[in-house]
Amino acid sequence: MSDANYDPTARRDTPLALKLKECIAREGPVTVAEYMQACLQDREHGYYVKRPAIGAKGDFITAPEISQVFGELIGLWCAVVWQQMGSPARLNLVELGPGRGTLMRDVVRATSRVAGFGAAAHIQLVESSERLEKAQRETLSGVTRPITWARDFDGVSAPAIIVANEFLDALPIEHWIKTQDGWRERAVGLDDAGELCFTTVQAADPACLTPSDIPDWSRSQDNSEYGVRPAGSDPILGAIVERLRPDFVTNGLQSLSQSGPVAALFIDYGHASSSAGETLQAVRNHKFESPLTSPGEADLSAHVDFDTFARLCNAAGLAIDGPITQAEFLGRLGIIERASKLMRANPAKAGEIEAGIARLIAPTGMGSRFKAIGVRSAGLAVLPGFGV
Ligand code: SAH
Repeated sequence: MSDANYDPTARRDTPLALKLKECIAREGPVTVAEYMQACLQDREHGYYVKRPAIGAKGDFITAPEISQVFGELIGLWCAVVWQQMGSPARLNLVELGPGRGTLMRDVVRATSRVAGFGAAAHIQLVESSERLEKAQRETLSGVTRPITWARDFDGVSAPAIIVANEFLDALPIEHWIKTQDGWRERAVGLDDAGELCFTTVQAADPACLTPSDIPDWSRSQDNSEYGVRPAGSDPILGAIVERLRPDFVTNGLQSLSQSGPVAALFIDYGHASSSAGETLQAVRNHKFESPLTSPGEADLSAHVDFDTFARLCNAAGLAIDGPITQAEFLGRLGIIERASKLMRANPAKAGEIEAGIARLIAPTGMGSRFKAIGVRSAGLAVLPGFGV
């Protein structure tokens, strides 16, 4: 939905809104990437720093919070990938942006009976939010396997299996708009009344605005919007893709995919192919609002452009599986069978389990809006759930 659909008078003077207004009045508009970074990660007022509210009682709910079956299936996916790697004695089981730690808790439970996996898996959680790290420590307090936390990806080594649900959508995007004068970067400025509004700025580096960077260059109409997420614009995604490159060596860090097999699974909402249109969205108390309404107090995210993401990984020498819809992926991993088993074991909760599964695979909801994409070292076989 475009910003024009929201009531501009609903805008709230959150502490971050005041800070941003002051900064914009002094220094001019901030780009959408800078705005997103501030809303999510500002040290004082950022959403993930101050009030990450994931779950039924929070601002938004994610698949692992809807049903334990989601994490259990991903756990079994990890175990099969580990076997495909030749069951290495030591494996880094990495989760990016683990939220409340629910997915990893279910992964651990589901894999506890897979011989050798538990002893091999060293869990590494990459989390930028201190608050969420605390929540993860609580959720995972019963886990006896070694777990380490990190703020970035640097400490990860191969062999590694990486999982990430709703992580890519939380990373800042650059957002370009085509105007009559050419491409401009979308930004947040101040209107005549001094309120936050969308505007555009001259691109800082017009050289990067070439048709090859913007896949639907020829299809874009004037004034259509287009969000693109080049690795260079985002420190963590850039670091991950760079570290995966077979030819990567810097500062004593080695290429991950050169030092052993690496497989990653990203699940997120987004377009399978690049398309023009609004990509930012803000959610507070399970309701959509304008991304400008409650800076720092709403979850701000962006549709993932899987096409661009896949090309980025391909260019780094990695193989890609998918993207396919979440419903297709979970279906191939046996979600119906697993749910039926769980319902038989917990007849009192059968209705709740069924409703959760229905939501995850709903053809007009999460089942199709969310996509799964696999990224792997070129030497590995097609990842489970993606083959024919
Ligand atoms: N995977 C969880 C949570 C999704 S919300 C779930 O499915 O429930 C996004 C998660 O990514 C949060 O844990 C957030 O703190 C984390 N995150 C966002 N940006 C990050 C960054 N740059 N580095 C590390 N973690 C980040």
